[in-house]
Amino acid sequence: MEMKAAIFRKPHEPLTIESVEIDKPSGREVLVRTAATGVCHSDLHVVDGQGRWPLDRPIVLGHEGAGVVEAVGADVTTLRPGDHVVACLSGFCGSCAQCLAGHPNLCVGGLVTRPDAAPPRLSQQGEPLRQFIGISSYAERMLLHENSVVKIDPALPLDRAALVGCGVLTGVGAALRTSGLQAGQTVAVFGCGGVGLAIVQGARIGGARQIIGVDVFDGKLEMAQRVGATHVVNSANDDPVTAVRALTGGAGVDHAFEAVGNARLVRQAIESLAIRGTATIVGVLPPDATIEFPWMAIRPECRVQTSRMGSNRFRLDIPLYLEFYRQGRLLLDEMVTRRGRLEDINEAFRAMKAGEVARTVLLFN
Ligand SMILES: [Zn+2]
Ligand SMILES: [Zn+2]
Repeated sequence: MEMKAAIFRKPHEPLTIESVEIDKPSGREVLVRTAATGVCHSDLHVVDGQGRWPLDRPIVLGHEGAGVVEAVGADVTTLRPGDHVVACLSGFCGSCAQCLAGHPNLCVGGLVTRPDAAPPRLSQQGEPLRQFIGISSYAERMLLHENSVVKIDPALPLDRAALVGCGVLTGVGAALRTSGLQAGQTVAVFGCGGVGLAIVQGARIGGARQIIGVDVFDGKLEMAQRVGATHVVNSANDDPVTAVRALTGGAGVDHAFEAVGNARLVRQAIESLAIRGTATIVGVLPPDATIEFPWMAIRPECRVQTSRMGSNRFRLDIPLYLEFYRQGRLLLDEMVTRRGRLEDINEAFRAMKAGEVARTVLLFN
């Protein structure tokens, strides 16, 4: 079937909207008509040549998609046509050691893509196109393994549900699942983009008594306050470590989160910790990034940990976080700064780099 998709061919160059062939679902695959896709930093990292994964090109990017199932392969048991779904890049096999231990976000089974020998899911005039992490949502349709999606309540708006597939899942999960946050503790969030704002919200839902948002853009700090930050620090004007210490009566915070993928911010997060504090690194750093800090900067018994996609069990967590949305506890309407069409993808990247948006969501017919 022919469809429109945004193709990434060369680093630092705009994506191009082209006609692409998408295969039929086979086995446990589902074909989903894309309704909406968020524009996430991980895609921009790839375009800017800073991706964590070496990627073959040409490739169709995008991984924060939601839509409606159009067709299912013969072996699909969990979905049928008409179901509303959110895609997640934490597709899981269900049988590897990590999946069996209850950590499907760390799956090493590699089930969600087609084997190399199989015909490609996406192609153009007989030439294969790569699919991004088994999803490729910058396209009118997605062909994915059923374990890369979760069915959601059809009453939910798909443009906001899409965000829960990556940025919101990652941020809320980092606070509620990875960090070990307990009600009444103090929190600082370094970087208040889409993921950082979701961490702020997760900390609020988890009962943090103080949530300090740190960013260099005033617009993002205002958003952080709107979704739950009790204090904000503009780190372009003030040293954030000094400011966080001042705001916590000198103690530092129980939990510091790094939400950008920047070694300097990781160091600031660690240096902002209280005794027995925990720094959770949520951002994806460049592969060769090195984090250095003076030994004296670490308070006694501090911990530093990473969070992979919010330690999610997404089949449980996405419906749960959407329930928080329905209850008015997780604010998603506020997270969508702009809406556009697939053709607006390059403008969405520009706006993200300029710090103008929490999220742009691209809508399809
Ligand atoms: Zn993402
Ligand atoms: Zn697995």
